[in-house]
Formats: sequence, structure tokens, C-alpha cells
Amino acid sequence: MPRYLTSVGMEVHAELLTQSKMFCRCAVAFGGEPNTRVCPVCLGMPGTLPVPNKAAIDMVLRTALALNCQIAYDSVFHRKNYFYPDLPKGYQVTQYGETNPFGYKGWLEIPLKHGGTKRIHIRRVHLEEDTGKLLHLPGGGSGVDYNRAGVPLMEIVTDFPPDIENPEEAREYLVQLRAILVWLGVCDGKMEEGSMRCEPNISIRPEGSETYGTKTELKNLNSFRSVQLGVEFEAHRQAALLDQGQTVTQETRGWNEGTLTSFVMRVKESEQDYRYFPDPDLIPMKFDTAEIEDMRKSLPELPLAKARRYQAAFSLSDEHVSQLTADRSWAEYFEKAVALGGDAQTVCNVMNGDLAKLLNESGLEAFDSKVTPVHMAELSKLVGSGTVNSKVAKDLLDQMFATGEMPGKLVEEQGLSQVSDEAVILDAVKTVVRDNPGPVGQYRAGKVGVIGFLVGQVMKATGGRANPSLVQELMRKELGE
Ligand SMILES: [Zn+2]
Repeated sequence: MPRYLTSVGMEVHAELLTQSKMFCRCAVAFGGEPNTRVCPVCLGMPGTLPVPNKAAIDMVLRTALALNCQIAYDSVFHRKNYFYPDLPKGYQVTQYGETNPFGYKGWLEIPLKHGGTKRIHIRRVHLEEDTGKLLHLPGGGSGVDYNRAGVPLMEIVTDFPPDIENPEEAREYLVQLRAILVWLGVCDGKMEEGSMRCEPNISIRPEGSETYGTKTELKNLNSFRSVQLGVEFEAHRQAALLDQGQTVTQETRGWNEGTLTSFVMRVKESEQDYRYFPDPDLIPMKFDTAEIEDMRKSLPELPLAKARRYQAAFSLSDEHVSQLTADRSWAEYFEKAVALGGDAQTVCNVMNGDLAKLLNESGLEAFDSKVTPVHMAELSKLVGSGTVNSKVAKDLLDQMFATGEMPGKLVEEQGLSQVSDEAVILDAVKTVVRDNPGPVGQYRAGKVGVIGFLVGQVMKATGGRANPSLVQELMRKELGE
């Protein structure tokens, strides 16, 4: 049996987080009663004129810059003509051509499973408008909801020949792309609500072959997992066809989340002629270099770049770094605490450990909690200077989270300073050894693990405040080591 190579192209649609629609002032929101967010413009009534939404254009330009694209300084909107009830005007406003989309010829880097990164080339980043939704009514018949019609939609398409060669890379591409869109604040990235939709096209070819196979396109993928499983399924399905001497049909297939299989939606017999032409109602757009350069400079540092910087500057582990950069405000919180003098490793440990847990339980975001970066920096200094041990630090965090009190003040008020006075600790050690002849005997008989229990007793006797390594040391001495 010949082995096959898989190639995946990705088309992603992202609904932009604007207040209003692309060419009218109707609000953008999810759900709601059908046809409650519509007006003559987005319903395509004769005599109405569209006015482009500047915020949407800026969002696409910012995304294009973040994806290392070239920018079309002169750009127009086109009409894509087709008749379907989800499109009241009889055409969709979009951007046609290779160098007309706001962004073209860019790339995105994805981390690879066994280390290193790979560049996924991007062909275009353009702006268009979303369509309405067809609904099948319970009593039979169909209806159309135009609430979504005219919502600004960004389309991001990968280049050909495809760089993505397996289901994991397809998933990782989407993970990275989503992270950037959310990071820039241009899309909420909710795949399950359809505000970010991914349609991969998949083809396979025998190893050694230069010619790409026939593609199939997959729809209805509403999670990272379904994208990975869908691409995997499609590659296997096509391989089975070729192995049996059959051919792959060029078609659009839907993904069934229940059975984890794909099914035919429609067969593409020929490319439809959309008769694209520049929209005469919308004037051509011109951007000047200064404006675009300002925009480029104002872009935030993106997740992958941030992750690399953290690794270089603070020598944090891969896992810690990817947790810190999973969310923009989480990364900002970390940076603030470090800028205020917190030790990076300690702050990172507390954030990704106990603080993350408290936030999860309470449903709060870091910046909304009572523990500010100022608290975090001070806590880290108390740990670093040996004023408190890690057990007390955890208790302090709980108290700070509940009351917003500064950790230094809590230590002072409650006498929580770490006890490193040898005489005091040795006293406690001697008491514990005297009161626990059983475990002490076991230890001396070779069951050395018992020391954990004895140390625990000393910690208990000192209210958890004793310096744990000093306790350990004195206990070993006392036991005759
Ligand atoms: Zn409208």
C-alpha cells in the first residue's frame, strides 16, 4: 500500500467585535429574536446606501499586520453576486483579487510537537459581510433570520501550496490564530457560537508525487478537537478510497460530531461564476504609510513572542510560559507583579498554582480579584527574603483573596514570620522526639521515610512558621545522623 502525504488549507471566518454592523448602525450581538437587528440597509432595500464601519477596517488591518502581511494601500470592496435567501441584496460585499485584500502574503508561526516552529503562509486577510441564517420552522417550511446579515466578517486564508501537513498542525494553526485574534481584541474566538468558523480543505497524494490530490472541504467544525478529528477522518477516508482504486470527489462535506464522521453536503461540479465587480456604492479606500506604520507600532507583543521573551529573561519552563501567555490580561498581571519587584519564578508559581485555582473557583479574572499585582509582588518578596515559608504564603494568599489585605500587614498582625531561630526550633524538635518514641524507633530501625511525619509534627507545633529546611536539618542531627 502506498503511503500518502496530507495537505491542508485553512479558511477561517471571524466575526469582528464591533458595536455595529459593517455598513449600517444595527447592533452586533449573538442570538436574540429573529430579525430584531435589521434596517433597510442590511435588508438591501432599494435606494439605501452603505457606509463602511471604520472600526472593522482597522481591526482587519491590525490583524493583517500581526500576521506579517503586506498591506493593500489601495483597496476596494467588491460585490460577489449570487442568489440565495440568506443574502437579501443578491450579492455579498467582499474583497476580490490577490493584492486587493487589506492583507496578503503573510505568515503565522506555530510551535511543533517535538520542538521548533513552522511558518504557515497566509494568502489573504480580507473583510466581508456575514449572511443571514436559514431556519427550519417546527411546523414545516423555512424562515430567514437577518440579524447576522451585514455583520463584519474577516476571512483568513492560508496560501497554496499548503504548509499544513497533518491534523495536529491544523489544530495548532487554529489555536495560534485564535490566540492572536482574541489577544488583539478583534474576535471573541467562540467556535461553539460560530463567531470563529474554520473550514479546512484536505487532500492527499502518494508519497513522492508532486501533484496535489482532489480536495474536499469540511464544514460544521466547532472546536479545536473537531478540526483535528475531522482532518484526520478525511485523510483516512480519502486514503481508503485510493487504496480501493477509487477516486476522491471534489465536494463539501459536513462533520457529524456525534458519529465523528463526515457526510456529503454538496458536490462541486464547477466553480460558480460570481461575476465580481467593484461595488459602485462604496468608494475606493486609500491608506497612507504613516497611518499603517503607527498601527504596526501600536500592536501589542503577541503571545509567541512574549513566551520566548519570558523564557530568555526568566528561564521559566515551557509549560509555565505557555500558561502565562494563554491570556493577555494574565500575562499583563504577571509583568506588572515582576515590574513591582516580584521574583518571576515565585510570582509564576503562585499565579499558575494557587491563584489560578482561587480564580477558577470564584469565576473571577485576575484583575477583578482583590489580589493585585502589588500584593503579588510583596508576597513574592516575603517568600524570597525567607520571612514566610511556602505554606504560610499559601495561607496569606487565601486571606488576601478574601479581604484584599496586604501580606506584610497580615504577617505582622498575626505573627506569621518564619521562625529561623535555631534554639527555638531545636526545642520543638527535642519535644517531638521525646513525645514520639514509636516513629523515632522506626526511623532508627531504618524506616527513614518516617522523618516526614516527625518534621510535620514540628511544623505543627510551631504553627507552620518554622523554616522547613532548618527543621529537617536539626531533626536529622537529633536522630543521630
Ligand atoms: Zn442594518
